[in-house]
Amino acid sequence: MTLKKDTILVIGACGQLGSELTMELRAMYGAANVVAADIQFPKQAELRESGPFEVIDVLAPQHLADLAKKYQFTQIYHLAAILSATGEKNPKFAWHLNMDGLFNVLDFALEQKVQKVYWPSSIAVFGPNTPRLHTPQHTIMDPNTVYGISKLAGEGWCNYYFEKYGLDVRSLRYPGLIGYKALPGGGTTDYAVDIYHQALAKGTYKCFLTADTRLPMMYMPDALKATLDLMHAPAEQVKIRSSYNLAAMSFTPQEITASIQRHFPTFTITYEPDGRQQIADSWPQTIDDQVARQDWGWNPSYTLDSMTDDMLLNLKRTHN
Ligand code: NAD
Repeated sequence: MTLKKDTILVIGACGQLGSELTMELRAMYGAANVVAADIQFPKQAELRESGPFEVIDVLAPQHLADLAKKYQFTQIYHLAAILSATGEKNPKFAWHLNMDGLFNVLDFALEQKVQKVYWPSSIAVFGPNTPRLHTPQHTIMDPNTVYGISKLAGEGWCNYYFEKYGLDVRSLRYPGLIGYKALPGGGTTDYAVDIYHQALAKGTYKCFLTADTRLPMMYMPDALKATLDLMHAPAEQVKIRSSYNLAAMSFTPQEITASIQRHFPTFTITYEPDGRQQIADSWPQTIDDQVARQDWGWNPSYTLDSMTDDMLLNLKRTHN
Protein backbone atom coordinates (compact mmCIF):
# COMPACT_ATOMS: atom_id res chain seq x y z
CA MET A 1 0.00 0.00 0.00
CA THR A 2 1.32 3.42 -0.96
CA LEU A 3 0.07 4.75 2.37
CA LYS A 4 3.23 3.39 4.01
CA LYS A 5 5.36 6.00 2.23
CA ASP A 6 4.08 8.64 4.62
CA THR A 7 5.62 9.69 7.94
CA ILE A 8 3.00 11.21 10.21
CA LEU A 9 3.28 13.35 13.33
CA VAL A 10 0.34 13.44 15.76
CA ILE A 11 0.64 16.30 18.29
CA GLY A 12 -1.64 15.93 21.31
CA ALA A 13 -1.61 12.15 20.80
CA CYS A 14 -2.49 11.30 24.43
CA GLY A 15 -5.83 13.11 24.38
CA GLN A 16 -9.37 11.85 23.87
CA LEU A 17 -9.15 12.11 20.09
CA GLY A 18 -5.38 11.66 19.65
CA SER A 19 -5.15 8.35 21.49
CA GLU A 20 -7.69 6.78 19.11
CA LEU A 21 -6.61 8.57 15.94
CA THR A 22 -2.97 7.58 16.48
CA MET A 23 -3.92 3.89 16.71
CA GLU A 24 -6.08 4.18 13.59
CA LEU A 25 -3.26 5.87 11.66
CA ARG A 26 -0.76 3.24 12.85
CA ALA A 27 -3.04 0.47 11.59
CA MET A 28 -3.32 2.22 8.24
CA TYR A 29 0.20 3.56 7.64
CA GLY A 30 2.32 1.13 9.67
CA ALA A 31 3.11 1.74 13.35
CA ALA A 32 6.71 2.86 12.78
CA ASN A 33 5.51 5.60 10.41
CA VAL A 34 3.23 7.35 12.92
CA VAL A 35 5.05 9.39 15.57
CA ALA A 36 2.86 10.17 18.57
CA ALA A 37 3.85 13.36 20.43
CA ASP A 38 2.46 15.03 23.53
CA ILE A 39 3.58 17.18 26.45
CA GLN A 40 2.82 14.22 28.72
CA PHE A 41 3.88 10.60 28.53
CA PRO A 42 1.01 8.27 27.47
CA LYS A 43 -0.92 6.47 30.20
CA GLN A 44 -2.40 4.08 27.64
CA ALA A 45 -0.12 1.05 27.20
CA GLU A 46 -1.24 0.45 23.59
CA LEU A 47 -0.16 3.97 22.62
CA ARG A 48 3.19 3.67 24.43
CA GLU A 49 4.05 0.26 23.13
CA SER A 50 2.76 0.27 19.58
CA GLY A 51 5.09 2.84 17.95
CA PRO A 52 7.38 5.86 18.34
CA PHE A 53 6.54 8.43 21.03
CA GLU A 54 8.14 11.86 21.60
CA VAL A 55 7.57 14.25 24.50
CA ILE A 56 7.29 17.76 23.05
CA ASP A 57 5.80 21.12 23.96
CA VAL A 58 4.16 22.50 20.82
CA LEU A 59 4.78 25.99 22.23
CA ALA A 60 8.54 25.41 21.85
CA PRO A 61 9.48 25.67 18.14
CA GLN A 62 12.86 24.10 18.99
CA HIS A 63 11.10 20.86 20.00
CA LEU A 64 9.59 20.63 16.53
CA ALA A 65 12.94 21.50 14.91
CA ASP A 66 14.58 18.71 16.94
CA LEU A 67 11.99 16.22 15.67
CA ALA A 68 12.84 17.22 12.09
CA LYS A 69 16.42 15.99 12.69
CA LYS A 70 15.01 12.49 13.32
CA TYR A 71 12.04 12.27 11.00
CA GLN A 72 10.91 13.69 7.68
CA PHE A 73 7.19 14.23 8.14
CA THR A 74 4.78 14.21 5.22
CA GLN A 75 1.65 14.82 7.34
CA ILE A 76 0.92 16.47 10.69
CA TYR A 77 -2.22 16.12 12.80
CA HIS A 78 -2.13 18.98 15.31
CA LEU A 79 -4.64 18.20 18.08
CA ALA A 80 -3.13 19.87 21.18
CA ALA A 81 -5.51 22.49 22.56
CA ILE A 82 -7.26 23.73 25.68
CA LEU A 83 -10.97 22.94 25.38
CA SER A 84 -14.04 25.08 26.09
CA ALA A 85 -14.71 24.64 29.80
CA THR A 86 -11.02 24.50 30.84
CA GLY A 87 -10.25 27.51 28.63
CA GLU A 88 -12.62 29.73 30.62
CA LYS A 89 -10.54 29.10 33.77
CA ASN A 90 -7.38 30.55 32.21
CA PRO A 91 -8.40 32.42 29.05
CA LYS A 92 -5.01 33.97 28.22
CA PHE A 93 -3.18 30.68 28.47
CA ALA A 94 -5.88 28.99 26.34
CA TRP A 95 -5.39 31.69 23.68
CA HIS A 96 -1.59 31.27 23.90
CA LEU A 97 -1.66 27.48 23.49
CA ASN A 98 -4.42 27.37 20.88
CA MET A 99 -2.98 30.17 18.69
CA ASP A 100 0.80 30.01 19.16
CA GLY A 101 0.72 26.21 19.03
CA LEU A 102 -1.08 26.43 15.68
CA PHE A 103 1.36 29.05 14.31
CA ASN A 104 4.33 26.90 15.33
CA VAL A 105 2.86 23.91 13.50
CA LEU A 106 1.88 25.85 10.36
CA ASP A 107 5.33 27.49 10.13
CA PHE A 108 7.09 24.18 10.80
CA ALA A 109 4.98 22.51 8.10
CA LEU A 110 5.96 25.20 5.57
CA GLU A 111 9.67 25.03 6.47
CA GLN A 112 9.73 21.24 6.31
CA LYS A 113 7.60 21.08 3.15
CA VAL A 114 5.04 18.87 4.91
CA GLN A 115 2.42 17.81 2.37
CA LYS A 116 -0.75 17.93 4.50
CA VAL A 117 -1.76 19.34 7.88
CA TYR A 118 -4.89 18.49 9.86
CA TRP A 119 -6.15 20.83 12.57
CA PRO A 120 -9.57 20.41 14.22
CA SER A 121 -11.98 23.23 14.82
CA SER A 122 -15.23 22.99 16.78
CA ILE A 123 -18.90 23.96 16.90
CA ALA A 124 -17.63 26.46 19.53
CA VAL A 125 -16.87 28.84 16.62
CA PHE A 126 -20.59 29.68 16.64
CA GLY A 127 -22.16 32.04 19.15
CA PRO A 128 -25.38 33.47 20.58
CA ASN A 129 -26.42 35.19 17.31
CA THR A 130 -25.76 32.16 15.11
CA PRO A 131 -28.96 30.39 13.93
CA ARG A 132 -29.16 27.46 16.37
CA LEU A 133 -31.07 25.02 14.15
CA HIS A 134 -29.41 23.51 11.07
CA THR A 135 -26.54 25.97 11.48
CA PRO A 136 -25.21 26.49 7.95
CA GLN A 137 -21.58 26.32 6.81
CA HIS A 138 -21.48 30.08 6.24
CA THR A 139 -23.32 32.12 8.87
CA ILE A 140 -22.95 34.59 11.75
CA MET A 141 -20.01 33.52 13.93
CA ASP A 142 -19.73 35.40 17.22
CA PRO A 143 -18.21 32.95 19.74
CA ASN A 144 -18.17 34.12 23.35
CA THR A 145 -15.69 31.62 24.85
CA VAL A 146 -11.93 31.98 24.51
CA TYR A 147 -11.94 28.47 23.03
CA GLY A 148 -14.43 29.48 20.32
CA ILE A 149 -12.60 32.74 19.63
CA SER A 150 -9.30 30.85 19.24
CA LYS A 151 -10.88 28.22 16.96
CA LEU A 152 -12.48 30.90 14.75
CA ALA A 153 -9.17 32.78 14.49
CA GLY A 154 -7.39 29.46 13.82
CA GLU A 155 -9.80 28.70 10.95
CA GLY A 156 -8.92 32.08 9.44
CA TRP A 157 -5.19 31.37 9.73
CA CYS A 158 -5.52 27.89 8.19
CA ASN A 159 -7.33 29.45 5.24
CA TYR A 160 -4.64 32.17 5.07
CA TYR A 161 -1.74 29.67 4.95
CA PHE A 162 -3.60 27.76 2.22
CA GLU A 163 -4.36 30.86 0.14
CA LYS A 164 -1.04 32.72 0.60
CA TYR A 165 1.49 29.91 0.93
CA GLY A 166 -0.25 26.94 -0.69
CA LEU A 167 -0.09 24.82 2.49
CA ASP A 168 -2.61 21.96 2.25
CA VAL A 169 -4.38 22.46 5.60
CA ARG A 170 -7.67 20.63 6.26
CA SER A 171 -10.10 21.02 9.13
CA LEU A 172 -13.42 19.87 10.60
CA ARG A 173 -15.71 21.58 13.09
CA TYR A 174 -16.28 18.62 15.40
CA PRO A 175 -19.37 18.43 17.59
CA GLY A 176 -18.96 16.86 21.07
CA LEU A 177 -16.98 13.63 20.69
CA ILE A 178 -17.98 10.49 22.57
CA GLY A 179 -15.75 7.44 22.95
CA TYR A 180 -15.06 4.67 25.46
CA LYS A 181 -11.27 4.45 25.17
CA ALA A 182 -10.22 7.79 26.68
CA LEU A 183 -11.78 10.35 28.97
CA PRO A 184 -12.62 13.79 27.60
CA GLY A 185 -10.35 16.78 28.22
CA GLY A 186 -12.52 19.55 29.71
CA GLY A 187 -15.24 20.37 27.18
CA THR A 188 -18.91 21.35 27.52
CA THR A 189 -20.10 18.05 26.04
CA ASP A 190 -18.06 15.85 28.45
CA TYR A 191 -21.24 14.80 30.25
CA ALA A 192 -22.17 12.58 27.31
CA VAL A 193 -19.11 10.40 27.99
CA ASP A 194 -19.26 10.51 31.78
CA ILE A 195 -22.93 9.50 31.87
CA TYR A 196 -22.11 6.06 30.41
CA HIS A 197 -19.34 5.47 32.98
CA GLN A 198 -21.63 6.49 35.84
CA ALA A 199 -24.52 4.41 34.50
CA LEU A 200 -22.30 1.36 34.89
CA ALA A 201 -20.50 2.39 38.09
CA LYS A 202 -23.35 3.92 40.13
CA GLY A 203 -26.63 3.59 38.24
CA THR A 204 -27.19 7.33 38.59
CA TYR A 205 -25.70 10.52 37.14
CA LYS A 206 -25.66 14.19 38.17
CA CYS A 207 -25.65 16.24 34.96
CA PHE A 208 -24.11 19.74 34.71
CA LEU A 209 -26.54 20.72 31.92
CA THR A 210 -30.35 20.97 32.04
CA ALA A 211 -32.56 18.10 30.84
CA ASP A 212 -33.48 19.79 27.54
CA THR A 213 -30.06 21.14 26.45
CA ARG A 214 -29.74 19.89 22.89
CA LEU A 215 -26.21 19.74 21.46
CA PRO A 216 -24.60 18.23 18.36
CA MET A 217 -22.57 15.09 19.14
CA MET A 218 -20.64 12.35 17.33
CA TYR A 219 -19.43 8.85 18.18
CA MET A 220 -15.66 8.46 17.93
CA PRO A 221 -15.63 5.92 15.05
CA ASP A 222 -17.53 8.47 12.94
CA ALA A 223 -15.11 11.25 13.97
CA LEU A 224 -12.15 9.07 12.95
CA LYS A 225 -13.83 8.18 9.66
CA ALA A 226 -14.58 11.86 8.88
CA THR A 227 -11.02 12.90 9.70
CA LEU A 228 -9.41 10.24 7.54
CA ASP A 229 -11.93 10.67 4.69
CA LEU A 230 -11.15 14.39 4.61
CA MET A 231 -7.39 13.81 4.75
CA HIS A 232 -7.57 11.22 1.97
CA ALA A 233 -9.83 13.28 -0.31
CA PRO A 234 -8.18 14.66 -3.46
CA ALA A 235 -7.07 18.27 -2.77
CA GLU A 236 -9.40 19.73 -5.39
CA GLN A 237 -12.42 18.27 -3.55
CA VAL A 238 -11.47 20.08 -0.35
CA LYS A 239 -13.03 23.40 -1.21
CA ILE A 240 -13.43 24.80 2.30
CA ARG A 241 -10.05 25.69 3.78
CA SER A 242 -11.28 27.30 6.99
CA SER A 243 -13.19 24.30 8.42
CA TYR A 244 -16.10 22.06 7.44
CA ASN A 245 -19.36 21.77 9.38
CA LEU A 246 -19.77 18.14 10.45
CA ALA A 247 -22.80 16.43 12.00
CA ALA A 248 -24.03 13.01 13.07
CA MET A 249 -26.66 13.34 15.84
CA SER A 250 -28.04 15.87 18.31
CA PHE A 251 -29.60 14.96 21.66
CA THR A 252 -30.44 16.24 25.14
CA PRO A 253 -29.41 14.76 28.52
CA GLN A 254 -32.98 13.49 28.85
CA GLU A 255 -32.76 11.66 25.51
CA ILE A 256 -29.39 10.02 26.23
CA THR A 257 -30.84 8.91 29.58
CA ALA A 258 -33.75 7.23 27.79
CA SER A 259 -31.29 5.57 25.43
CA ILE A 260 -29.30 4.18 28.41
CA GLN A 261 -32.52 3.10 30.18
CA ARG A 262 -33.19 0.67 27.31
CA HIS A 263 -30.29 -1.31 28.87
CA PHE A 264 -30.64 -0.23 32.54
CA PRO A 265 -34.31 0.59 33.28
CA THR A 266 -33.46 1.73 36.84
CA PHE A 267 -30.80 4.27 35.73
CA THR A 268 -31.61 7.78 37.00
CA ILE A 269 -30.33 11.28 36.27
CA THR A 270 -30.43 14.53 38.27
CA TYR A 271 -29.65 18.00 36.97
CA GLU A 272 -27.38 20.60 38.54
CA PRO A 273 -26.37 23.08 35.81
CA ASP A 274 -23.08 24.96 36.30
CA GLY A 275 -21.07 27.50 34.25
CA ARG A 276 -21.01 25.10 31.31
CA GLN A 277 -24.76 25.68 30.79
CA GLN A 278 -24.05 29.20 29.55
CA ILE A 279 -21.54 27.87 27.03
CA ALA A 280 -23.97 25.19 25.83
CA ASP A 281 -26.74 27.79 25.45
CA SER A 282 -24.55 29.79 23.04
CA TRP A 283 -23.90 26.81 20.74
CA PRO A 284 -26.00 25.37 17.88
CA GLN A 285 -28.49 22.58 18.55
CA THR A 286 -28.20 21.01 15.10
CA ILE A 287 -25.62 21.45 12.33
CA ASP A 288 -26.11 21.48 8.56
CA ASP A 289 -23.17 19.55 7.09
CA GLN A 290 -24.39 19.42 3.46
CA VAL A 291 -21.19 20.98 2.13
CA ALA A 292 -19.01 18.22 3.64
CA ARG A 293 -21.44 15.62 2.22
CA GLN A 294 -21.25 17.18 -1.25
CA ASP A 295 -17.52 17.96 -1.40
CA TRP A 296 -15.98 14.73 -0.10
CA GLY A 297 -18.86 12.36 0.56
CA TRP A 298 -19.28 12.63 4.34
CA ASN A 299 -21.89 10.25 5.75
CA PRO A 300 -22.07 9.26 9.43
CA SER A 301 -22.90 5.72 10.58
CA TYR A 302 -24.02 5.97 14.23
CA THR A 303 -27.30 7.11 15.79
CA LEU A 304 -27.81 7.80 19.51
CA ASP A 305 -29.10 4.28 20.18
CA SER A 306 -26.46 2.44 18.13
CA MET A 307 -23.77 4.52 19.89
CA THR A 308 -25.26 3.70 23.32
CA ASP A 309 -25.32 -0.02 22.51
CA ASP A 310 -21.67 0.03 21.47
CA MET A 311 -20.48 2.28 24.34
CA LEU A 312 -22.12 0.09 26.98
CA LEU A 313 -20.91 -3.13 25.40
CA ASN A 314 -17.31 -1.91 25.44
CA LEU A 315 -17.43 -0.13 28.81
CA LYS A 316 -18.89 -3.22 30.50
CA ARG A 317 -15.59 -5.01 29.69
CA THR A 318 -13.47 -2.27 31.32
CA HIS A 319 -15.80 -1.83 34.31
CA ASN A 320 -15.75 -5.56 34.97
P1 NAD B 1 -7.67 16.54 24.98
O1 NAD B 1 -7.65 17.66 25.96
O2 NAD B 1 -8.24 15.24 25.39
O3 NAD B 1 -6.20 16.28 24.45
C1 NAD B 1 -5.29 17.31 24.15
C2 NAD B 1 -3.88 16.74 24.26
O4 NAD B 1 -2.96 17.80 23.98
C3 NAD B 1 -3.54 16.23 25.67
O5 NAD B 1 -3.06 14.90 25.61
C4 NAD B 1 -2.49 17.19 26.16
O6 NAD B 1 -1.51 16.61 27.02
C5 NAD B 1 -1.86 17.67 24.86
N1 NAD B 1 -1.18 18.96 25.02
C6 NAD B 1 -1.59 20.00 25.78
N2 NAD B 1 -0.69 20.99 25.72
C7 NAD B 1 0.31 20.56 24.91
C8 NAD B 1 1.51 21.15 24.48
N3 NAD B 1 1.89 22.37 24.87
N4 NAD B 1 2.31 20.44 23.65
C9 NAD B 1 1.96 19.19 23.25
N5 NAD B 1 0.82 18.59 23.65
C10 NAD B 1 0.00 19.27 24.46
O7 NAD B 1 -8.41 17.10 23.69
P2 NAD B 1 -9.23 16.24 22.60
O8 NAD B 1 -10.62 16.14 23.07
O9 NAD B 1 -8.48 15.05 22.21
O10 NAD B 1 -9.27 17.29 21.40
C11 NAD B 1 -8.34 17.23 20.34
C12 NAD B 1 -8.62 18.37 19.38
O11 NAD B 1 -9.97 18.23 18.88
C13 NAD B 1 -8.55 19.75 20.00
O12 NAD B 1 -8.01 20.65 19.06
C14 NAD B 1 -9.99 20.09 20.28
O13 NAD B 1 -10.20 21.47 20.29
C15 NAD B 1 -10.69 19.42 19.12
N6 NAD B 1 -12.09 19.12 19.43
C16 NAD B 1 -12.40 18.15 20.35
C17 NAD B 1 -13.75 17.92 20.66
C18 NAD B 1 -14.13 16.88 21.68
O14 NAD B 1 -15.32 16.73 21.98
N7 NAD B 1 -13.20 16.14 22.24
C19 NAD B 1 -14.75 18.64 20.01
C20 NAD B 1 -14.39 19.61 19.10
C21 NAD B 1 -13.06 19.83 18.80
